[in-house]
Amino acid sequence: MTRQKALGSYRRIVIKIGSALLVDRKTGLKKSWLDAMCADIAKLKNKGVDVLVVSSGAIALGRSVLDLPSGALKLEESQAAAAVGQIALARDWSESLSRDSIVAGQILLTLGDTEERRRYLNARATINQLLKIGAVPIINENDTVATSEIRYGDNDRLAARVATMAGADLLILLSDIDGLYTAPPHLDPDAQFLETIAEITPEIEAMAGGAASELSRGGMRTKIDAGKIATTSGCAMIIASGKTDSPLSAIENGARSSWFAPSGTPVTARKTWIAGQLQPAGELHVDDGAVTALGGGKSLLPAGVRKVVGLFSRGDTVAIIGPNGREIARGLAGYDAEEARQITGRKSSEIEAILGYAGRAAMIHRDDMVMTSQINSKSERQKKDAAHA
Ligand code: GLU
Repeated sequence: MTRQKALGSYRRIVIKIGSALLVDRKTGLKKSWLDAMCADIAKLKNKGVDVLVVSSGAIALGRSVLDLPSGALKLEESQAAAAVGQIALARDWSESLSRDSIVAGQILLTLGDTEERRRYLNARATINQLLKIGAVPIINENDTVATSEIRYGDNDRLAARVATMAGADLLILLSDIDGLYTAPPHLDPDAQFLETIAEITPEIEAMAGGAASELSRGGMRTKIDAGKIATTSGCAMIIASGKTDSPLSAIENGARSSWFAPSGTPVTARKTWIAGQLQPAGELHVDDGAVTALGGGKSLLPAGVRKVVGLFSRGDTVAIIGPNGREIARGLAGYDAEEARQITGRKSSEIEAILGYAGRAAMIHRDDMVMTSQINSKSERQKKDAAHA
């Protein structure tokens, strides 16, 4: 991936905008910033690029409309603030885009909408249709129904899921941070800025600090998580500052930003969806023989499973854990947890006698499985390309 690649050369771009860029605590919406952003979006669209926006700011805007005191809000308070703020946010986007005769469509998603395959496909179809008619989807988490356990809670990971769902080739995360440093720059004066990241290694993950500012939930941690989800499915990612007006033009003009190369091992759309699941419903602990078999591209048979953890149904995503306690793969369970427990460690030929019906031979079929190593591994050639970029 080359650092200088023009934004107009991408096919489909997801732009994630942090709350602090759009909303001022005292004065509310930053209209001139939004207008400049919409002008940049119009330029991209004129070059034939499909643009999707994941916009935060509902809670911040609701707080400002309701004049709530600063400090942490209770979940129901932030949900009420989001309900008030989201109306204003969507209207502002719609009005601002309409200056360039662009139509906006609001999409509110919950974690369940992207974790459950059927709902995921429905949401994807709607997004594709909006893009087909030339509209710009304005997406946010449906904060009013998201509970503390079942929610993204940050729009970095939501944006990455949207990018994979829409088959985008670039995700741009705009916030008050201009990119990735080897250590949090406000704490460590020796922190080095990283311009290109060829691969998200454990060392890169270790560089991510905590959350950054009061108005935005996600810090570098959620941005790196987003990077893993996006790059796995062949989508490049840029982290850049949105603090000045027209940050997209600034990126084009060489403003400081961190570029993450897409993974060199594109997997099928179905496997991308499996790999990007945020909350596997359970775990299958397997023996060394199974680890070797899965590494060789085989399905997971009940004989190689040692322990079943969690309550899941057939078709749910489960993590496959090796004897050393590390996740080695993820896949869609071929059996409910209870049935899986009954056939654990047994030969596939015994399944019918145990369960009373002839089930599948595999606990997880290889077509429904993605190796965790595959999620970040890259071909040597791509590593070289990235190093020379
Ligand atoms: N959904 C939240 C909002 O619109 C933002 C979450 C985030 O900042 O990442 O207010």
